[in-house]
Amino acid sequence: MEFKPYYMPNSESKYLALRKSWAFCAIAIISSCATKPPLETGTFTPSELVELQRLDPTIQLDIRYATPHNFMGRPLYPQARAFLQRPAAEALAQVNADLKPLGYRLLVFDGYRPWRITKMMWDSTPPEKREFVADPRKGSRHNRGCAVDLTLCDLATGREIEMPGTYDEMSPRSYIAYAGGTAAQREARDLLRRLMETHGFTVLPAEWWHYDYKDWKSYPIQNVPFEKL
Ligand SMILES: [Zn+2]
Repeated sequence: MEFKPYYMPNSESKYLALRKSWAFCAIAIISSCATKPPLETGTFTPSELVELQRLDPTIQLDIRYATPHNFMGRPLYPQARAFLQRPAAEALAQVNADLKPLGYRLLVFDGYRPWRITKMMWDSTPPEKREFVADPRKGSRHNRGCAVDLTLCDLATGREIEMPGTYDEMSPRSYIAYAGGTAAQREARDLLRRLMETHGFTVLPAEWWHYDYKDWKSYPIQNVPFEKL
C-alpha cells in the first residue's frame, strides 16, 4: 500500500478536523468534570471551619496526611492542621471533656479535607479497596467539614490507645462490629463510640475511627486548601 502523506481530499480533511475538535472538546469536558467538586443544588448553612486546636488545645493531633505515614505513602496536606464546622468542633470538645475523668483525651487524624485530596485518594485506590475511600463524584463528609477521623490517647502521656485495628487499615479489623482483638481494644473502641454518639456523631460501619456529625447534609462540599483557612 502506497502512503501519500500530502494528499487528502478537502472534504475528508474537514471531516477529520471536525472529529479532532469534537474529541478535544470531549476530553476537555471529561477532565474538567473530573477535577472539580460535584455541583450541588439547594441552600446550605454558611461554612464556618474552626481550627480544633484553637478551640481546645488539649485535643491532640496526628495529621497523618501531612506525613508519609498514611495509606498513600506520601504527604497530601502541606500543613498538619485539623478543622471542623463550628457545631461539630464544639461537640468534639465536649467529647474530649467527657474523656478526661476517664484518663483519656482525643487524638485526631483528620477533619475537614479539601475535595481534591479525596479525588487523589480515590484515583490511587484499587477498585476492590474503595469501600474505604469516598467517591469524589459524591464528595466526602470530610469535604463538608463534618467528618472526623480519631482515636483515644492517654491523658497524661499522649500515648495512642490500642484499638482492634490501626487507622486507615483496609481490612475487616476496621469494621466497628469486628469481634476480634483483645477485650481491652474492643472496650476502648466502644467507649469512643459511646461518647461520640452522645454528642451527635455517627460512626461509619466500615471504619471504627470515622465519625460524621449529624448536620453534615446542611454544609456544602468545599475545596479550600488549608493555607487559605
Ligand atoms: Zn474519615
